[in-house]
This record gives sequence, structure tokens and C-alpha cells, in this order.
Amino acid sequence: MADYVSSSFKDAGIPSVEIFNLDVLLNYPSSPPTLTVKNPSGQITYTAPLTEDILDFDATSDTPWRNHTFHGYAPSGSVSAKAVYVNYGRPSDFDLLESAGINVEGKIVIVRYGQCFRGLKVMNAQDRGALGVLIYSDPMDDGFEFGETYPDGPWRSETSVQRGSVQFNSICAGDPMRADKRYAEMGEDLTSLCGVEDYTSLIPSIPSIPISYGDAQPILAQLGGTAAEDFGDDWVGALPITYTTGPSTSIVSMTTDNEFKVTSIPNVIGKVPGSLPSSEDHPVLLGNHRDAWVFGAADPNSGTASLIEVAKGLGHLVKSGWQPQHTIYLLSWSGEEYGLLGSTGWAELNFEEISNASAYINVDTVVSGDELTVSATPALATLWEGVMADLDGHVAFKNGPSGNVLDANVNAPINADDAIGTLGSGSDYTVFLDHFGIASLDFEFNSPAGTYGVYHSIYDSFDWIDNYGGIDREKGSSFELMAGAAKMWGVLALRLADNDGGVLPFDHEKQGAALVKYSAAVDGSGLDLSELNANIDAYLKVAESVAEEMKSDFVDLKDLNARLSLTERSFLSSEGLPGRGWMKHVLQAPGFYLGYAAMAFPGVQQAIDDGDLDLAQQQVAVVAECVDKAAKFLKG
Ligand code: GLU
Ligand code: ZN
Ligand code: ZN
Repeated sequence: MADYVSSSFKDAGIPSVEIFNLDVLLNYPSSPPTLTVKNPSGQITYTAPLTEDILDFDATSDTPWRNHTFHGYAPSGSVSAKAVYVNYGRPSDFDLLESAGINVEGKIVIVRYGQCFRGLKVMNAQDRGALGVLIYSDPMDDGFEFGETYPDGPWRSETSVQRGSVQFNSICAGDPMRADKRYAEMGEDLTSLCGVEDYTSLIPSIPSIPISYGDAQPILAQLGGTAAEDFGDDWVGALPITYTTGPSTSIVSMTTDNEFKVTSIPNVIGKVPGSLPSSEDHPVLLGNHRDAWVFGAADPNSGTASLIEVAKGLGHLVKSGWQPQHTIYLLSWSGEEYGLLGSTGWAELNFEEISNASAYINVDTVVSGDELTVSATPALATLWEGVMADLDGHVAFKNGPSGNVLDANVNAPINADDAIGTLGSGSDYTVFLDHFGIASLDFEFNSPAGTYGVYHSIYDSFDWIDNYGGIDREKGSSFELMAGAAKMWGVLALRLADNDGGVLPFDHEKQGAALVKYSAAVDGSGLDLSELNANIDAYLKVAESVAEEMKSDFVDLKDLNARLSLTERSFLSSEGLPGRGWMKHVLQAPGFYLGYAAMAFPGVQQAIDDGDLDLAQQQVAVVAECVDKAAKFLKG
């Protein structure tokens, strides 16, 4: 696949294309996992098949790969214990169980996918003394509750399994070992970078396996104990059983046999060099991952199709004699699925080269539905809105009502306040934004469920994306949306790399407005925000005068562009966030117990949530200092 993408870039006419290999720790099952249930007298009452069905409809489902249902970074293990259902496995779920006297210590936890990153479910269970974890896909979250299941519709079917990494991703991204020898050559290691002693604190020590709802139902049905409903309606899934918490009287046994090995992964690095001298060059980085759990037609190949299409567009311009002002990078990552390995490793080992980058624009699964979703650094919001307005009529379903970009989703106008989300984690922008302070943007067409029915299963296949990837097949196909995404991505890149008049399209008034909003969200917690708010006001005033400066004809473009694009770096604190020093951005981070979803002012908010107001106040001072730094930098 790396060779394919690399030749596609070269054939398109991208001037520089290289493979960047990185050594990383990976695991892989030596043999498939097992899962059985025994009744109190020791007889086996259930053996889970742990196999995704072969479908006549879907040619690629007939592959030996379908047995490899496992979790990235789950250790080998063999445990037997009573089972407890813990809903989504968030701290609040465990707290509710504990308040009812239900303890998971020494138990096997059965937890459903959704609400937070899977690795944090395992982290929470392990912290509370569980011996093993079964993570299943409840039809409530991506199955028949939403509609017909595959192959009759797009949603998750009975035997379909969501694989995925169980790394503790809210602490640190990247290879948990930093095994590549270039780290040592640079004098860096896991402790200096991530603040942890060794890799075992970033990955689980207890075994876990991902299972289908077909395999989970017999286990859930016989748990006994308290009615799950007693803990709230959101404890009850969609299976035709009475959900109870256990602990079961029966004994669940699970085994995993996963081999860990340092392995080389290839990243493809394409480059269209800019015409400006390097001191004025603010490279724009376009990235997408290429590795997939199985075939990955949607995740990530829908995005890779768009990336190759962008390469063709840029190559076409290059062949006509064009050169951008600023360098454009086309980055095809490997190892994203295990924990953003390729992007994190490349960025950490090559930071000098990209230290002046203006922005990183990520696309992961670009099409799994027809609802356009975007998350970005607020300073990029105006760029996004301008591109969307100008592409009006150029990104559309063939059969859509008006050929408008918004045909994809008429219900969510892209320029409404709050329509642009805050970046958390779960994809390759993380190292660029959270560790290096490079303004970032990520967009996709997804379904209203926010996930899709074949995610990380054998059925994320050509047949699925062809028939159901655009969800509403009557309107148009997923391939039309991939082409549309390429246009959006390409125009975003051009406006950053070769912008009219030369002023980089950053909107610091939008950034300031976001700061006001974040501050209001932590107000009322008993914290003194006066210095922070005064600094935000000062930042807003600078942003206003910079907006004027951007319109003036007599600017020192080199100086202005550096201030516009590098102000984001000021929002990094040297210490990093409490307990997770690799995450340095003080304005947003993946929630410590969320993993995917973002938390604004994460140092402050997490301390409030943990009831530590002294730490929260100290973190307010850290944010205030960063905002002050940013205002001064932006002012010049
Ligand atoms: N995108 C992958 C997933 O959701 C990896 C995310 C991460 O490690 O942060 O499983
Ligand atoms: Zn992905
Ligand atoms: Zn994925």
C-alpha cells in the first residue's frame, strides 16, 4: 500500500516522494482469542465463535483475516472469573456500581463500545482491579437501533466485531516504546517525551478482546444481579434481554495470545517545495493514514482516495509550471490504528523541518455518511467558511437538490456558531496540535450516529462503501463525496500555501472569541479568573488590530505571516498538562477519560472534575500566562 500511494504521488507529478520507515512496537495474535462460559458446576454452557460471518454479498468477507479479532496492544493472558456489566466503562459508570456495592476487582468486565475511547475503558477497569475486559458493540450504539444491518443496510450486524487499539491515548500518542533508534540518537526517550517511566504505563497489563453482540448476548443474558435500569436508562442497550449488572454466578474464561514485536512501518512523505526562502516558508501539512484493521474501505481508504486525488490536482498545477509560495506536504501515515504511530514518530523525529508550519489538515475516514463535520483550531474557522462558500456548487451529489456543498447535510449550516467543533484525539492531528502547537483542522462526511456500522470490522469493504458509504444512495454515491472532499482539502491547502496577496488566512478574532467561551465554561467553579480574562481581553484587542493590519497594503509580509501562523505555539505550556506532560496545548486536549472528545482548558477542567481546586487555580495561571505570551507574540 505504501508503494501504491508513493507511485500514485510520483505518477501525479509530486516533485519529491520518499518513504520514511519507523520502528515501532506492535502486537499481533499468534492464535485467535477464546471465550467460554461455565456454569457453577463447571460445565461449559457457551463457547463464543468469535468469527465474523462470510457474506455472499461481500466478496472480501471470505478471507482468513476474519478470525483475527483482537485489540492493538492487548497483552496475552488467560483469565477466568465472574463477569460484571459496566455499561460504557467510564469512571462515572464504575462509581455508580460501587455505590451499589458492586465491585469489579477480580472480575471480568463486559463493557459496551461508545462514549469514550476503548483503551480508556480498559484503563479504568484495570485501575479498579479487573482481570480482563470484553468490549462488545451494542446494537443501540451502531446496530439495528439505527436501521437495517449489513448486508441489508449499513449498520452493524450480529457477528461484526470492532477491532482497535487499547493504548491509553489520552496520556500520550505514538509508539509506546519510542523504539526507533533515532530517539536515542537525539537524546530523547519515553520519560523525557511523555513523562512516564516505561511503556507498560501506556498500555494495558490485563487482556481484552473485542466481541460482537451475537457473542455478547448469551453472556449478558445470564449475568444476574441488579437490573441495569436501576442505574439509569442509558445503562440499557438494545438487545432483547433484561440487562443486569452481575456479578454472574457462572465463570467466564477468556484467552488472548498476542505476540509483541518491534516492527518497521512505512510512511509516505510527498512534498511540493515552495518558492519562498526557508525563513519565510510556512509549510502546510496534509495528512491521512493508510493502515487499516482489515480492508478499511472507509477507514482510512476513503480518505486516501481523496489524498491521491489532491496529489493529482497539485501535480497538474506543477506540470503547468506552477509552484506554491509555501511548501505543501502530502503525508500518508502508517500505524495510526495502534496509536497514531507514524504521524507522531515522523513529527517528533523531524520537527526542525516543520517547525514553521502554518497548519496541519487531517482527513481520516472521509466518508462514512453524508453529514459534513469539521473540527478545527478556531483561528482556521474563517478559512474553512470561505472555502465552503467558494466551493458552493462544486461539491455535491449528482442527484442532490441544488448542487450545493450543503446538499450533503442541509441540517447543519457550516457557518453557524459552534458548527465547527473542538479537536480531541483519535486521529493523526494529535502530535501536530497537542504536542507541537500547529493549528489543525479535520473534516469528514459521517452519519448522524457519529460512527458507522462496519467500523474496524471485516465488512469495512468495497461492497459496503459502494452500497452504503454515502448512506442515502438515492442522492448519490460515497465516491462523489470523496471527490468533493478532495476539492475541499485541495482548496484549503492552496489558500494556506499560495494565498492571494500573500497574507496567511488566520483569524485571531475567532481564536479570541473561543477563549472567551472556554473561560465562561469554567466560570462559577469558585476560581479567580480575573487575570485570565484580562489577558483574553488584551488578546482580543491585538487580534482586532491585526485584522486591520491584514487588510493594509503596507505590511511586512514575512513578519505578519510568522505572527499569524506561529501564535498557536504560544498556547503550549512547557510543563504540559498535569499527569500527561506530552499533551502541551492548554486550550484543548482529548478529555483524560474521553480519549476522542475534546476538553477545553483541559488542565483547568480536569482539575475541577477531580475536585482539586488548588490545581485548577494553578492551571488557570498557566493558561493566563500562555494567553499573555500569545497576545505579545501576535502583536509583534
Ligand atoms: N483512530 C484509532 C482508533 O480510534 C486510533 C486512535 C488513537 O490511538 O488515538 O482506534
Ligand atoms: Zn482511521
Ligand atoms: Zn480506525
